[in-house]
Amino acid sequence: MLAMEYRGPKRIRVTQKPMPEILHPEDAIVRVTRSCICGSDLHLYNGNVPDTRVGQTFGHEFTGVVEEIGSEVTKLKVGDNVLVPFNIACGKCIFCKQGLFGNCHEGSPQATAAGGFFGYSHITGGYDGGQAEYVRVPYANVSPTVIPPGMDIEDAVLLTDVVPTGYQAAEMGGIQTGDTVVVFGAGPVGIMAARCAWLFGAGRVIIIDKEDYRLEFARNYSKCEAYNFQEIGDPVLFIKKQTDWIGADVCIDAVGAEAAGNALQTITGRKMLLQAGSATAVHWAINAVRKGGVVSIVGVYGPTDNLVPIGNVLNKGITIRANQTAVKRHLPRLIKHVQNGVLNPKGLITHRLALEDVADGYRMFSAKLDNCIKTVLIPST
Ligand code: NAD
Ligand code: ZN
Repeated sequence: MLAMEYRGPKRIRVTQKPMPEILHPEDAIVRVTRSCICGSDLHLYNGNVPDTRVGQTFGHEFTGVVEEIGSEVTKLKVGDNVLVPFNIACGKCIFCKQGLFGNCHEGSPQATAAGGFFGYSHITGGYDGGQAEYVRVPYANVSPTVIPPGMDIEDAVLLTDVVPTGYQAAEMGGIQTGDTVVVFGAGPVGIMAARCAWLFGAGRVIIIDKEDYRLEFARNYSKCEAYNFQEIGDPVLFIKKQTDWIGADVCIDAVGAEAAGNALQTITGRKMLLQAGSATAVHWAINAVRKGGVVSIVGVYGPTDNLVPIGNVLNKGITIRANQTAVKRHLPRLIKHVQNGVLNPKGLITHRLALEDVADGYRMFSAKLDNCIKTVLIPST
């Protein structure tokens, strides 16, 4: 079968790989119909995730058709059209039982890792992902969900990560009616977080990025204010001025690990080492939030990243909430929101490519070319 394959930082290709096989009675084999490229894939692509091995296939946001099931799969049947959440979750461990499907112990038992994820390095289980014609889906009774009749496949594929992650970002913010919410990062996740902030009763939503086309998109799609951090000066001072010097009630980090490099590069014109005290999105979030406010982090950081200015957190009495998204927990509600038109995720998709063109897709998404917001690959129809 054809599959995307990692060859080293910024080097990926399409290659022939053996067909995946059922390895466990609860496995299913899925023929992939749509598979997105995510900001989380860029951390892998850039070589920033430990233990990303040459030969791995990425891809954790996909839909497909069930081709084969193991003897203990009862919730799916061959021929079902499914959306497959990015978490590989057993459904039985102490974390899954609490709804922490992004932290499943069986999916990836390493103490510093999250749970198991499709196509996301060996620190999250070493599973191959869905940027391929076929994929093995472990624990097929737990997370994979039959796509409701009538649902557009592009809406369905965004329910595997972007929509629940934007939603969880807003949820973790504990937004109260009338709150001012600031979202750092106007990628698909930040745009969706800004959109979802209104669902929780925000009174004002501001998004901050450096890509004007994304800010323009966010203004229209998320109905929020949008500012370019290269134009507003110090974003923390800017937010303070916008809030009578109080600070935002809730700040959301939808940027993650690369932000420090990006921001510093932008500000100083040269690359600097990541260090505590540097101008990362997470620092901006912590400094721009009000005393007693909440910082919600969905941007992905590595297990050893150490960027939190803990003194500011203590002195301001800030609550920090952060996690990998528990996709399954949000699906019942979010499927309804999509069906009722409350959310229209497919509006985020700007590019559709054949699997053969996956390397172009990464280059474009990584360099923010051609006004790219979200790219979806079409391995089969
Ligand atoms: P993306 O790369 O498309 O978007 C990131 C945006 O941040 C870009 O538009 C970039 O210009 C902007 N940016 C860079 N530095 C910034 C700064 N200092 N301040 C404000 N904006 C800045 O990625 P995405 O797909 O939107 O994902 C966003 C983040 O969410 C990534 O870190 C990704 O790994 C993470 N993510 C987390 C989960 C989860 O479960 N927690 C799920 C999906 C994605
Ligand atoms: Zn993703």
